[in-house]
Amino acid sequence: MIILKTAKELSVMQEAGKISAGALVEAGRVIRPGMTTKELDDALHKYILSKGATPSFLGYGGFPGCACISINDEVIHGIPSHDRKIKEGDIVSVDVGACYKGYHGDNAYTFAVGEVSEEAKQLLKVTEESLYAAIKMAQPGNRLGDVSHAVQAYVEPCGYGIVKQYVGHGVGRDLHESPDVPNYGTPGRGPRLMPGMVIAIEPMINASGEDVKVMPNKWTVKTVSGSLSAHFEHTVAITADGPKILTLA
Ligand code: MG
Repeated sequence: MIILKTAKELSVMQEAGKISAGALVEAGRVIRPGMTTKELDDALHKYILSKGATPSFLGYGGFPGCACISINDEVIHGIPSHDRKIKEGDIVSVDVGACYKGYHGDNAYTFAVGEVSEEAKQLLKVTEESLYAAIKMAQPGNRLGDVSHAVQAYVEPCGYGIVKQYVGHGVGRDLHESPDVPNYGTPGRGPRLMPGMVIAIEPMINASGEDVKVMPNKWTVKTVSGSLSAHFEHTVAITADGPKILTLA
C-alpha cells in the first residue's frame, strides 16, 4: 500500500530531507585521498546527530554503518571500514539518510576524488542527469512507469548497464515503503502518481553490463564486469504543483 503524506508530514519530511542533504554536503567537504571510509562515516554520523536526527541506515537490517560508502566497481551498500582508504582518482558513492521526528530522508551522491578518468566523469554526469530526467516526470497524474522509463531512456543510448536487482522506493515513517521505483519501465504503466506520495528515485548505473553480485560480507554489491558504477538519489514528494525535491541542503 502506498502511504500518502499530509501537508504536516511533508513539512517534517522536508526537515529530514534537509538534514540528509546536509550530510552529503558534509561528505563533499571532508572527503579526501587517504581518508578511510570509516572516518568519512564518522563525520556524517556526527553531523546527523548535531542536527537532532539519527542515521536511518545504522542498524537497518543489521547494517553496521551510518552511510553506505561504495567505491569504483562497488555499486551500493559498501560498509564503512577502518581498512578501506579512499584514493585519488576514485569515484565514491555516499548513500545516507536521516530520521527526524520519526520520518526519513534518503539521498546519495557519487563524488569524484581528485582527478578521475574521462570515462568516470561521463558516467557520473549521465547518471546524475538521468536522476533529474526522472524527477521531471514525477508529476501528479503521470504513472510510475513514466519516471522509471525516464532513467532508462536517458542512460541506455550511452551503452551503460542499468542495475535492475535494486530499485528506488517509497519513503516515510519507514525508510523503504511501497512502491518500488525501478530504473527501467514502460511509460503509462504502474501506479498513478498522486499528491502526498514520496519516493526515493535512485539510478544505479554501471559503465558496462547490468549484472551485479553481493560480496561475502553479505552487503557490498559490485559490478560483475568490474566496471565503474555510479549512484545518485533524491527523496521527492509529488505535489499538486509538481515534483518537490525534499533532499535539498
Ligand atoms: Mg534509497
